[in-house]
Amino acid sequence: MCRRLQRTAWVLKKSITKTDGTHATIFGHELFEGIFDSSANGLILLDSEFHMLRVGKGLCQLLGYAPHELFAKSIRQIIAADNWSAASKKLTVLTPVQEKSLQVECRYLHKNGTIVWVIVAVSHLPKKAMPAMPQYLLQVTSIDKQKQAEELTEEALNRWNFALDSAGQGVWDCDVLTDTWSYSSSWKKMRGIPEDESILLDDENWIKEIHPDDHQLVLEKMAERFRVGMSEVSYEYRQRHRHGYWMWILARGRCTEFFPDGKPKRIIGTDTDITEIRRREVELADVSHRLEMALSTSQVGIWKYDVYNSATYWDLRTREIFGLPPGDEALPPQTWENSIHPEDRERVVTVCKQAVLSRQDFSMDYRIILNDGTLKHVRARASFPKSDTGPETMIGVNWDITADIAKAEAFKMAKLLAENKSFDLEIARGHLEHSSLHDSLTGLPNRRHLDKALLEFQNPSGKNQSLSLLHIDLDRFKQINDTKGHAAGDAVLVYMANLLRKQFRASDLVARIGGDEFVVLLSPSPEHAQLRGMVDRLIGLAREPINWQGHECRCGISIGIAEAAGDFDPRQLFVNADIALYRAKNTGRNCAIYFTARLQAEVIAEKENADDILKGIERQEFIPFYQPIFHTKTLDIAGVEALARWRHPVRGLLAPDTFLTVAAEFNLMNAIDSAILAQALCHLQMWDDAGIEIPRISVNVSARRLGSDSLLESLNALPIQPGRVSFELLESIFLDEFDDVNAKNISGIKNLGIGIDVDDFGTGHASIISLLRLHPNRMKIDRQLTRNIVESPSQRQLVKSLIEIGLSQNIEVCAEGVETAEHARILTELGCDYLQGYHFAKPMSETDFLIYMQGQSWKKDLPLLEHDGVTGKTLSDFMEKVGLSKAS
Ligand code: C2E
Ligand code: CA
Ligand code: CA
Repeated sequence: MCRRLQRTAWVLKKSITKTDGTHATIFGHELFEGIFDSSANGLILLDSEFHMLRVGKGLCQLLGYAPHELFAKSIRQIIAADNWSAASKKLTVLTPVQEKSLQVECRYLHKNGTIVWVIVAVSHLPKKAMPAMPQYLLQVTSIDKQKQAEELTEEALNRWNFALDSAGQGVWDCDVLTDTWSYSSSWKKMRGIPEDESILLDDENWIKEIHPDDHQLVLEKMAERFRVGMSEVSYEYRQRHRHGYWMWILARGRCTEFFPDGKPKRIIGTDTDITEIRRREVELADVSHRLEMALSTSQVGIWKYDVYNSATYWDLRTREIFGLPPGDEALPPQTWENSIHPEDRERVVTVCKQAVLSRQDFSMDYRIILNDGTLKHVRARASFPKSDTGPETMIGVNWDITADIAKAEAFKMAKLLAENKSFDLEIARGHLEHSSLHDSLTGLPNRRHLDKALLEFQNPSGKNQSLSLLHIDLDRFKQINDTKGHAAGDAVLVYMANLLRKQFRASDLVARIGGDEFVVLLSPSPEHAQLRGMVDRLIGLAREPINWQGHECRCGISIGIAEAAGDFDPRQLFVNADIALYRAKNTGRNCAIYFTARLQAEVIAEKENADDILKGIERQEFIPFYQPIFHTKTLDIAGVEALARWRHPVRGLLAPDTFLTVAAEFNLMNAIDSAILAQALCHLQMWDDAGIEIPRISVNVSARRLGSDSLLESLNALPIQPGRVSFELLESIFLDEFDDVNAKNISGIKNLGIGIDVDDFGTGHASIISLLRLHPNRMKIDRQLTRNIVESPSQRQLVKSLIEIGLSQNIEVCAEGVETAEHARILTELGCDYLQGYHFAKPMSETDFLIYMQGQSWKKDLPLLEHDGVTGKTLSDFMEKVGLSKAS
């Protein structure tokens, strides 16, 4: 192949020579060679099979080959592969007759593989019979640069359109001369106009789409296109979107071609949909307006600090706070630092510097001093807003908290004052609390205090220890109060309170719970023996006379003791102590009694008994029995003593010892006494009516009855004949309970013509003087004293003395318990006025008494009377006879 083509090249040379003559041949060859190598175009000669028989230097340069590299090679080697079939077809259609030449754009391949755009002019050479002779001449001109430029332009255009489109910008183009407008698809799209809709807008139609407020502006701007020298136009207006709303458009145009007279010929521009921007602008304006309002009402000032320039900017309000005139410029250095209160400066500056270094937010309060010396409190907050670009800035707010601080200070002061006040109140409350829990006279805890203490003991979480409760009642306190006055009474109470305090342990609670009542709580309970010792000592000490302003006050105490441990009912504990105290009082006072279950049973029984008594009173079961009293000298009936009996429906006839104590205890004696008196008066009337001569009846009057306010009133209602009734009052009454009421009642009784007999004379401890002040009519010598007079001379002497007192004071004397004739005889001799006793008669029912009276038996049986009455011996004679001299 290669050899054949070598030969072809030789033949080619030869034939040229042959065709054009020698000279010509030589000249033709040189010319041919010259053209091939000097042509700027690349020349190629191809044979009919498209082998390159000759390539010019121009082509070699264009494609980077040396000529020998292409010699005899197929042209296919230098044509881009995808261009080949088209290129080869073009070559084969050429014929010397019909189509001698053609021109095609084609892509050739550079030796380095890159594409080179070329225009190829192909000529079909006149056909020679010889094979391997040149068939085609190709003149290759590079259009690569144009192609590249074209490509670039197109790409740029594409990119530009893409950019405009994606930026949402519509492009418009105005040919001013013809006033034709063309619009890009995005121009339509932004207005909601379909892309294929053709738009024919003259000014008149156009303006209809524009917001009325913008008509004038738009028309003015549109007219610019006819103005000489117009180069640019830019404006914003509102146009109706196809969806109906007003859209904001920013129109920008530039004149690209001018007429020779300077008028615009062509204007190209873009429209931008700025509806969203406008909306945001409005929103932003709104927000900033609100922010401004908020800042101005809150008086918050804003500042910023440019970290790199170290420049600080303060807004109007910050400047106001710091007392600076308004201004936008950066703050002179040190202005801020200098304004800080010297005591706060270091702290504040350090915080600030650290915040800048660490890009941390900060918040602090500090004081500033203005140029005019005003001191203000400022609160500052600052932070670094995140910014990827732009300068790094610390933004902060300041506000004046001087007023707040002042308020806080005032509040603090007020609080302090209030605290002081509440402290005072607390003290006052403490005093109140103390006085509400203490007795003002003795300073001892009072009942409330005691109740609280008991509750604490009761509380399961409390001490849960053994506990003794002593209920203490002063004996005869009322008498001291009544006879010596309240001051004496108070002194006694204080004395007793101190005594109690001293006697018990400091941990024990001593309380005064009422008039003359005290309670001591001992916890833990002392041993029984120890407590007994304490109590006995206390009782002993309490009995000792108390000196009050030179007067001796005699008092005593009775104590009821109850004990508890663990869970207990404070009220029950109190009731128990009360029961014990009640018993102590009944047992003769000046003693201490422990509460026991048995004691409780007894008391309950007593209570039941009392109920029974009450019923008995209601059913009139209490009746008088009568025991006669005789004149010593005549043995005539001097009177009768009415003695109560209870005709019990079950238990039969009961004597006073079975009910008296309980009845007195339960305050039922008044009722019994009054029932007996009423019946006795009745009987007296009956006896009178029957002609039975009973000069007088005596009734027993209990202490309670004598002290009753209503006694006189009830007596006034009775048919009492003066001189026919006597009241027997126990001597002990005058010792214990004698007070103003008693005195008043006694004089009332006397006024009614009722005699007063002092009963059981000689047993009580009443002072004779106080007794005598009463001026009783009679004294009844207790039978305890008369009992032994027969055997005991001293007893006889005692009775004699008592009788003599009566005689000397003009008080008649009656002897009780006259059981034998001997008793009667002796007592007669001793000078008694009256005799009463079993020797004469036992107490009898009214019926029996009537029988007894009718029998008059006692006179016969009584030799003493006869003897005395017959002999008429004197008392001293009689006494001598029985071995008693007057002197003894
Ligand atoms: P009193 O007033 O000293 O009454 C005399 C008591 O001695 C009576 O007991 C009587 O039965 C008893 N007595 C009389 N003669 C003799 C005697 O020779 N030997 C003995 N051993 N006893 C004799 P009575 O009736 O049991 O009354 C006891 C006390 O009860 C009375 O003592 C009186 O203090 C009181 N009492 C009786 N009835 C009433 C009453 O209606 N009202 C009040 N307040 N007390 C009454
Ligand atoms: Ca009596
Ligand atoms: Ca008596």
